[in-house]
Amino acid sequence: MRIGEAIRQAGQSVQNQLGLDSAGANVEANLLCQHLLNVNRAWLISHESETLTSKQQAAFEALVQRRLKGEPIAYILGSREFYGLPLKTTPATLIPRPDTETLVEAALAKIPQNASLNILDLGTGTGAVALVIASERPQTKVTAVDASPEALKVATENAQSLNLCNVRLIESNWFSALVSEKFDVIVSNPPYIAQDDEHLKQGDLRFEPLSALASGADGLDDIRKIIQDAPDFLNPNGWLMLEHGYDQADAVAALLNARGFRQIDHVKDIAGTLRVTFGAI
Ligand code: GLN
Repeated sequence: MRIGEAIRQAGQSVQNQLGLDSAGANVEANLLCQHLLNVNRAWLISHESETLTSKQQAAFEALVQRRLKGEPIAYILGSREFYGLPLKTTPATLIPRPDTETLVEAALAKIPQNASLNILDLGTGTGAVALVIASERPQTKVTAVDASPEALKVATENAQSLNLCNVRLIESNWFSALVSEKFDVIVSNPPYIAQDDEHLKQGDLRFEPLSALASGADGLDDIRKIIQDAPDFLNPNGWLMLEHGYDQADAVAALLNARGFRQIDHVKDIAGTLRVTFGAI
């Protein structure tokens, strides 16, 4: 079968069985084929009429079948781009989402270009937030923690492949392994979905680590812990910045306020939802 035809058929199946729109399905079919042949998009376009060997065709079919069973495209490809950085992504980690670029933007706005600030990322997963900050602000010292050793391995590989030397990775359940250290900005994209939320049984979320998604009856258990402990780890005027669910902005602001944070404010994500809330101590 020709490459172009194989991609077209795969796109059609993805569209029909997963309910994606035709553009989205086509992008995925192209990505799977690029992954299989280890080529870029330009190569694929200019070689559309070449024929796949039967071995390649079978391997392509196997990748498409995995996707049709619902496995997230980021786990099949083993990577996801976040804020322009290619990041290794495995089932041990949450898949970096565009929503979280809001948290990155909010943090970068608090870190002047050449400031040598001390930054902490709690629950780093692939390292997405920490690595972008480290890369965009080379003078900062970034500490990234995660309770999962498997996730930490992925984040470490990402830091190494991006050649970022200003990042330190530590296995820690939130602040547990950090003794008497102070930071200027603490960021986190913690789990914040209510444990009985139907979304956990849908789409990509079914394949992601539950520990990175769900947090108690109202989704706020981990956010409460982080807000409670953060003041002990912040320098005077330091910021705590949290990503949260679409309907949690008021609750997070109230928790920050009750713990003595001031200058509390929110940032909207690209969809216009209040996605990040922050305050200073
Ligand atoms: N924003 C993610 C979602 O709703 C959840 C990520 C998280 O809990 N931190 O799919």
